[in-house]
Amino acid sequence: MTQELDWANLSFGYIPTDYNVRCYFKDGKWGEIEASQSESINIHIAATALHYGQEIFEGLKAFRGKDGKVRVFRLEENAKRIIESAKGIMMEPIPVELFCEMVKKVVKLNERFVPPYGSGASLYIRPLEIGTSAQVGVKPSEEYLFLILVTPVGPYFKGGFRPTNICIMREFDRVAPKGTGRWKVGGNYAASLEAGHKAHSMGYSAVLYLDPKEKKYIDECGPANFFAIKDGKYITPASESILPSITNMSLKQLARDMGIEVEERHIPIEELEFIQEAAACGTAAVASPIGEIHDIDSGKKYIVSKDGNPGPITTALYNKLRGIQLGEEEDIHGWNTVIE
Ligand SMILES: *Cc1c(COP(=O)(O)O)cnc(C)c1O
Repeated sequence: MTQELDWANLSFGYIPTDYNVRCYFKDGKWGEIEASQSESINIHIAATALHYGQEIFEGLKAFRGKDGKVRVFRLEENAKRIIESAKGIMMEPIPVELFCEMVKKVVKLNERFVPPYGSGASLYIRPLEIGTSAQVGVKPSEEYLFLILVTPVGPYFKGGFRPTNICIMREFDRVAPKGTGRWKVGGNYAASLEAGHKAHSMGYSAVLYLDPKEKKYIDECGPANFFAIKDGKYITPASESILPSITNMSLKQLARDMGIEVEERHIPIEELEFIQEAAACGTAAVASPIGEIHDIDSGKKYIVSKDGNPGPITTALYNKLRGIQLGEEEDIHGWNTVIE
C-alpha cells in the first residue's frame, strides 16, 4: 500500500492500479457497474472486437490540484464523443450518465494513484468498448463490454516545453476520406503504426497527415489535432477525416477568450510558409509546439519556429489550459469535474 512512485519520471506506459470498472451490455440492456482487481478479461474467441475491429476508446485525465482536490477534465465531452464513435461502427452507445458515473468511480477507487500537485504527472483514464459476441459473419455484435482502466503517467515534456520536428509523408494515409477518421477507433491507430514508426526512425516526433482525398490540405498530426498561429489568428483544419479533439475545442475557446480570432477551415500545405507558430494538440501534451515541418516527398522544409522556441500564443494557451486543469486558474467554462 505504501508503494511510492517516482511521479515526475513516469513514462506514458502502464502501471497497475487497484481497480478497473466494467459494465456489460447483454439482452438489450446495460448491467450493473462492476469494480474489478483483475487485469485480464475473458472473451469469446469469435468476439467481433477480435475479428472485425469493433473497438472504440477514449482518453482523458485526472489532476491533483493546487487545493488538493482531484479534477477530471471535460468528462461530459468525452462521454458524448464515445457515443459518436459507437454509432460510427455500429456498437452500442454508452449512456452519458453511465460513462460519467464509471469514470468518477474508477478515479475514486484509485485515488492514491493520482499524482501529487506540482509533479507534472497525472492519472490517465482510458475507457474502452469492445464487441464481445461470437460472430463469424460480418455483422455487429449483440453484446458489449465497456471498461475503464486508469494508470498514472508522467509529465509529457520531460526535457521542457520545446518544439519538435514533424514530417509530411504521402506514402501513407491514416484514414479514408469518408472513413472512420472522425471516430476514436482502434483500427485507425493500427493503420498509423507503420507511418509513425518510420517517422520516429527518421527523427520526427509525428507524421502530419494530409487530407486523404486530394492530399492538398493539412489534416492532423498523428494522434493529435493541428493548429497554427497566422497573423495573430488561431487556424485549425476543418476536415471530415480528423478526430474532433477536445483539447483543440478547449484551446479554441481560450483563444477566443483572449480576443484571438479562430478560423476553422481547409489549410493548404503551401500556407505553412506563412504561419508563425504551430502545435499538435491532444490530451497527452495539451499542446506540443512544432519547430519545423519537413515535406519528405518534395524535400521542402517549413521552418515554423525561427528561434527554436515555442511561440508566445502557443505558450499562453498551454499555460492557461494547464492552469485550469490544476485548479490554479478559474474554471469559468465549467470544464472540470471535482471528484468528491
Ligand atoms: C484522441 C485523438 C486526438 C486528441 O483528442 P483529445 O480529445 O484532445 O485528446 C486527436 N486525434 C486523434 C486521431 C485522436 O485519436
